[in-house]
Amino acid sequence: MIRTILAVLLSFVAIGAAAQEFSGLARLDVQDSSVVDTRNGVALELRMSQGVPYRVFTLDGPERLVLDFREIDWAGVEPGALDQSEQVSDIRVGGFGPGWSRMVVDLAGPYLLETADLEVDAETGQATLRVDLQMGSPEAFATASGAPDGAEWAVSSAEVPETSGQDGTFVIVVDPGHGGIDPGADQGGVLEKDLMLLFALELKELLVRSGDVEVLLTRQDDSFVSLDRRVVLAHKMRADLFISLHADALNEGHAHGATVYTLSKTASDKASALLAERHDRSDILAGIDLSGQDDVVADVLIDLARQETQPRADRLAEALRLGIKQRQLKLNTRPMRSAGFSVLKSPDIPSVLLELGFLSSEKDRANLQNPEWRGVMAASIRDAIFAWRQADAATADLVRQ
Ligand SMILES: [Zn+2]
Repeated sequence: MIRTILAVLLSFVAIGAAAQEFSGLARLDVQDSSVVDTRNGVALELRMSQGVPYRVFTLDGPERLVLDFREIDWAGVEPGALDQSEQVSDIRVGGFGPGWSRMVVDLAGPYLLETADLEVDAETGQATLRVDLQMGSPEAFATASGAPDGAEWAVSSAEVPETSGQDGTFVIVVDPGHGGIDPGADQGGVLEKDLMLLFALELKELLVRSGDVEVLLTRQDDSFVSLDRRVVLAHKMRADLFISLHADALNEGHAHGATVYTLSKTASDKASALLAERHDRSDILAGIDLSGQDDVVADVLIDLARQETQPRADRLAEALRLGIKQRQLKLNTRPMRSAGFSVLKSPDIPSVLLELGFLSSEKDRANLQNPEWRGVMAASIRDAIFAWRQADAATADLVRQ
């Protein structure tokens, strides 16, 4: 327990300054929020400009309630103004890891977490988080308290650079399809996995030369990486966008040209359910630990994140289609598609899967093996990403107003 407390204290010290750089998407309306005493406990009602993923837990020694939010802007928030409770001695707010904000409520006794419920107004998009605490025994409080297990706020994987995504650097995660024992399409000795790695490395080179972005690959060599692992890596790398590269083969028809895939609506609903069921929940939403949540809460959190992410992914797909068209490269007859691909299931990272062409098409195969063609295709992707990034930032600014 002491270690937990120390970790929390250290985080406040270390991240306090960095947190100022985040202009959060959501704002807390202090005027309409309150922390009050109830008959046998304490009730928090926090009004926010929009729903954000969050988590709530208590810590012991001394007793306190911790609320973590994804991107809340505390600017101008005087947390003391919230406090109308005799049972709360202090409320503090600060940053906790990149993109995360924390509120700590110091409690006068063992008040156990009874309910936490986030309600989002369908019309205004404004959200209200209600948290109820009930007086319990010190023993019960001690048992119920502690930071959720598996909450990996820090980057730990050796595959992920420690500085990834820090200082607000824009992180592009490029995912070369297949690898290792999974060759992908195989046409006359030309393997999809090799071509995609080659293309990914060329694209990375071009992107890095073109601007202030960090580009990370889900695999650097011919090794097998599971689909889930690719999604987990994107989170650990703090990806601002995720692009998976493929060039599959089709046995039937004469499919050719580039195709951009996003996660389909029906697939996304199913994905939510599947994600919520999964035992290793801590990796699903960057930094949010869902392992201690019941399924309903987990679903809500994932849906909230996805609601915001899906339109952004759709716009990214459209930017790619446009970029490829502008360079007069061949698009598929149905260039925009959606499917339930596992690698697109990050609820909080705009993700697309780009079929650069089909290895089963002679023309496409020749193109994919042509460095000149690859250069033009990479340039079209670069242009699309930078255009999208700018438009996306402008949209985010609008949302913040
Ligand atoms: Zn493939």
